[in-house]
Amino acid sequence: MKDRTLLMIPGPIEFEPAVLQALGAPTTSHVSPGFIEVFGRALERMRDVWQAPTGQPFVLAGSGTLAMDCAGANLVEPGDRALVLSTGVFGDRFEDLLARYGAEVDVIRAPIGETVDFEAVDSALRGSSYKLMTATHVDTSTAVRVDAERFGALGRAHEVFTVLDGVCSVAGEEIRQEAWGIDVVLTASQKAVGVPPGLALLVVSQSALCAWGKRRSRVANYYADWEKWLPIMASYEKRVPSYFGTPAVNLVAALDVSLGQILEEGLETRFDRHRRLGTACRAAIRALGLVQVPAEGCEANTLSAPRYPAGVRGGDLLPAIREAGAILAGGLHPEIRSEYFRIGHMGATKPGDVLATVGAIEAGLRACGHTFDSGAGVAAAQSILFG
Ligand code: PMP
Repeated sequence: MKDRTLLMIPGPIEFEPAVLQALGAPTTSHVSPGFIEVFGRALERMRDVWQAPTGQPFVLAGSGTLAMDCAGANLVEPGDRALVLSTGVFGDRFEDLLARYGAEVDVIRAPIGETVDFEAVDSALRGSSYKLMTATHVDTSTAVRVDAERFGALGRAHEVFTVLDGVCSVAGEEIRQEAWGIDVVLTASQKAVGVPPGLALLVVSQSALCAWGKRRSRVANYYADWEKWLPIMASYEKRVPSYFGTPAVNLVAALDVSLGQILEEGLETRFDRHRRLGTACRAAIRALGLVQVPAEGCEANTLSAPRYPAGVRGGDLLPAIREAGAILAGGLHPEIRSEYFRIGHMGATKPGDVLATVGAIEAGLRACGHTFDSGAGVAAAQSILFG
């Protein structure tokens, strides 16, 4: 029997074979004509996937946190005011991060499982002197999705730069960066973008770049300074060799393949597929009698976060689910860590993967003594995926 346990955590995820083949291909020079073409094309494809035709893409070797750091380091100057909209652990991360660069940070923190109160955001922005505002599109610690269109509109209305952490959403949840007026949309390779961990990806608006160009102080982060990377990205797009720091050659090649697949699938089709996967997973969880962390109406489509039923412990359930064929993640939010688990369903996830996962969850729950109608979860998911 093929030794394969489905990796259904909220990143890293299962990857497409063609992406893994690109990763495993012989490494070329970072200035070889073949690689220059691949990198240039990947940058062009990022604009299409982010729906930001005039945006400036950046690809750096690093994880999603570096993408956050890169946005903070370049847009914040000491004394700038920043507003963080937090729906979980990753929103909170921005508070600390922006403060490191000297920002005076205010936080609007949503109760666990809820989205931010945009009326409160609007009044905070009214008459204030915030330079930038951050939001986490999907906070992976709560599975809450924030309305990114409204976030962009508020930023525009109040002339505040907007930074969207799309680590758990880009290429899975709908984002129209330019139409929605969002200045920075950042992500990492290992989630819905569909490439193994190791790339920090950002697309930056021209007006944010323009503000960066007028900084009074130097960027306090050497590696992440756009001054270093802007000429490199421009050269690759012009298909001209250049060097600042060695790019992650194989990961960039894999990124090019994955972005090509994403565009081939079609963004609307892809967003729809994620909506269907998310809806099916949530329906299955409900059918099994489990409550979910995100409140109704703000659930992400890229991951689900069910609470353990009474009497069931994560330390027993997750190994039992793994035994039945699916690797899931435990809780992450420190206040409720031991009360819930997380299921990723993004990127290459197929309907059959969700069915197999729900089947494994049923097996695990049964082994832990939870009672439910056998097959109810699979049937609920199936009726949405194939009904
Ligand atoms: N933001 C969000 C929403 C995330 O889910 C994560 C990773 N789980 C990060 C930021 C940080 O990314 P990384 O772990 O790649 O540094």
